[in-house]
Amino acid sequence: MKCISLLGATGSIGVNVLEVVRSSPERYKIGAMAAGTNIKLLVSQVLEFNPEIISVIDSERAKQLAELLPGRFRNKIYYGTEGNQLVAAYEEAEITLSAIVGAAGLLPTLAAIEAGKDIGLANKETLVMAGQIVMEAAKKKGVKLLPVDSEHSAIFQALEAGRKEDVHKIILTASGGPFRGRNRVALEDVTPEQALAHPNWSMGRKISIDSATLMNKGLEVIEARWLFGVSTASIDVVVHPQSIVHSLVEYQDGSVLAQLGIPDMRIPIAYALSYPERTKLGLKPLQLAQCANLEFIEPDYECFPALRLAFDAIDSGGVLPAVLNAANEIAVEAFLNSQISFLQIAETVSQTMDIVHEGKEHSLEDILEADRQARIAAEKIIRNSF
Ligand code: NAD
Ligand code: MG
Repeated sequence: MKCISLLGATGSIGVNVLEVVRSSPERYKIGAMAAGTNIKLLVSQVLEFNPEIISVIDSERAKQLAELLPGRFRNKIYYGTEGNQLVAAYEEAEITLSAIVGAAGLLPTLAAIEAGKDIGLANKETLVMAGQIVMEAAKKKGVKLLPVDSEHSAIFQALEAGRKEDVHKIILTASGGPFRGRNRVALEDVTPEQALAHPNWSMGRKISIDSATLMNKGLEVIEARWLFGVSTASIDVVVHPQSIVHSLVEYQDGSVLAQLGIPDMRIPIAYALSYPERTKLGLKPLQLAQCANLEFIEPDYECFPALRLAFDAIDSGGVLPAVLNAANEIAVEAFLNSQISFLQIAETVSQTMDIVHEGKEHSLEDILEADRQARIAAEKIIRNSF
């Protein structure tokens, strides 16, 4: 029985993780879970999965949770950064599934690594912000970083077929999001509701907006750079609207290996949990004859400049990827609150990257400070744009 610690239990990934666990009760148990503000859902999850410890975002929510749960859970409830880290490092857990959204996922993921847990990594922001530190910590502790992001799971699987030194390119596929094919004028007035309506995947709000701007693919380029130890020069992005080919690896003999499947996050989640074994999930099979055409198109860097910004950030190095990430979080929130337009998301990120310069050092403290400065700068840029 594999014991799992789940960070971000009430989110889109968290709910899918619990579905995988629910379908294999003989295989998995949930030892610890952390969530943010959705107390109602968390209560039902706790009652069903009986974790030993639980954490929520703040003391107010911890109080609410304690009132709603039976007495036996009272002294098992924690909150805040400390609570997240306690859950992440929960003693009995073999694997910590990191699925909090945004920069808040970094410290708990590091705490899990320090505690020697294997990591199922959904929170891509962890590697975007602190890729080098996280990869070094994982190596030092001898823990596995198992990708949950579907593209990285695909690459991870295609890499099992060859030798690292024979890899020529890593090719990340992108759905293109809901606005694929539009020009900049047509993007000026798009609404949060339109941007949230992803054609193939049902996901959390932040990643849905990131998919519409292509920032998600930019973050994934940085994630791939660290996870697979390759330079960005060997990473290509190709738009593939059907989301059937989840990514590919090209070897130096010209062979290209891909992983295909229906777009369902339970597949990469289950693989991360059971690696190297595979689990029967009972999902509907991929029927190639019903897929009609599988298209592959060059990304449009003019209409979707966020992708270029991510390449710029990782190529400049230092704390710039953390600055990109923080500015993006603030800008996405402002767009969702109808404070800025869709096109202003990437503009805000770009302007923040100009203001908060790359530091030479990049210790964890430098990264957290750059994240803080970038949030202040992005908020100021947004206020001035009213
Ligand atoms: P979501 O918004 O649906 O869920 C986020 C979860 O994190 C929720 O449980 C929320 O309560 C929790 N949370 C937020 N802030 C917290 C905090 N400070 N402390 C504790 N918990 C906190 O997001 P999601 O779509 O599930 O995405 C989660 C992560 O997985 C993101 O980093 C995203 O990029 C990545 N990811 C998601 C998908 C997907 O299909 N949804 C695919 C690949 C990667
Ligand atoms: Mg992805």
